Amino acid sequence: MTSRAPALFVGHGSPMNAIEDTPSARGWAEIARAFPRPRAIVVVSAHWVTEGVHVTSNARQPTIHDFGRGFPQALFDVEYPAPGDPALAADIVERLSAFRAELDDSWGLDHGAWSVLRRMYPDADIPVVQVSLDARRPPAEHFAIGQALTDLRDDNVLILAAGNIVHNLPAFFRTRELLPWVQAFDEFVTNAAATGDDAAVLNYAARPDASDAAPDWEHFFPVFYALAARRAGETPYIFNKHYDPGISMTAFAYGLPQ
Ligand code: ZN
Repeated sequence: MTSRAPALFVGHGSPMNAIEDTPSARGWAEIARAFPRPRAIVVVSAHWVTEGVHVTSNARQPTIHDFGRGFPQALFDVEYPAPGDPALAADIVERLSAFRAELDDSWGLDHGAWSVLRRMYPDADIPVVQVSLDARRPPAEHFAIGQALTDLRDDNVLILAAGNIVHNLPAFFRTRELLPWVQAFDEFVTNAAATGDDAAVLNYAARPDASDAAPDWEHFFPVFYALAARRAGETPYIFNKHYDPGISMTAFAYGLPQ
């Protein structure tokens, strides 16, 4: 019998979580020990935005160091040599044919993926396929793409969406004060995740604090992929409720073993 893998949303935050001993990094390591090892992982990261839906098709894939020069050399030296899975990539393109998804061998693993994965699975021995965020699509279509990926869970494929529920870098750099909308917006999303109110999250832009909390759509939209992967009756396990000024690191998982 194949076990059903969970669906996860993680707030990935600074790439330094990949190499520093932070509470969030420890949370990622712990959650990986809470369910059986998946046979493969599908990642939707805030850091791969394309025109059209792209799916990584490489058997071997580079570790992409997609951040500024201000980070230490140790971060640029990180390699996460997880294999790709061309057969799974082809399967995903098929599942997403209504969205005209296409194979792409030009990408690898970006830091939204590997900073989290190297904490969850340090041996980098589980195949990983990334699905891009199509910049041309509204929230409801991202949600629909996520729904079309859900059945992969039944084949023990982990769905990992990596963004940040709250991601306002100017606020992060401007103040050390915890701004009220950080926690309020974060709890709006996790409460909706707990009650299954997907419509509220898809309509997040109607909230007056949305422009503060989620000015970077690409960090917020991975949330839709995790919500869409929920199965009937599943409630989220919410963890890593760590707040910085302008950032929430909150994560949630559907389908952990009871
Ligand atoms: Zn990011």
